[in-house]
Amino acid sequence: MTKTCSQLRRAKNEVFFKSHNMRIRDRAKSILPDANKETFELGFVCECSDLECFEEINLTLAEFANFRTNEKRFIVVNDHEHNDIETVVREKNGYTVVEKDILPASTDLYLQH
Ligand SMILES: [Zn+2]
Repeated sequence: MTKTCSQLRRAKNEVFFKSHNMRIRDRAKSILPDANKETFELGFVCECSDLECFEEINLTLAEFANFRTNEKRFIVVNDHEHNDIETVVREKNGYTVVEKDILPASTDLYLQH
């Protein structure tokens, strides 16, 4: 499959939200003493390709770390996955883990398409 500009742009949106979530995690770790507790959930943003989507997904830091080990994996609200650019890895109550078919290089994030 060849990459289209639209697919690449949407993939970039997802990378943008993913890095936003990494900052939420880092900030929580530094300012919230309870953040590492097993039951403590943080509100992460949906990492789907829709720039207008700001739906929240509540996860513990352990759950977040669990799927974050694979850089091609993203977390989206159920039914926010797009089968033309990603594959569903796991569905749980409230969120879906997807694996991207294409992943923009970090430098691509700063280029306009
Ligand atoms: Zn979404």
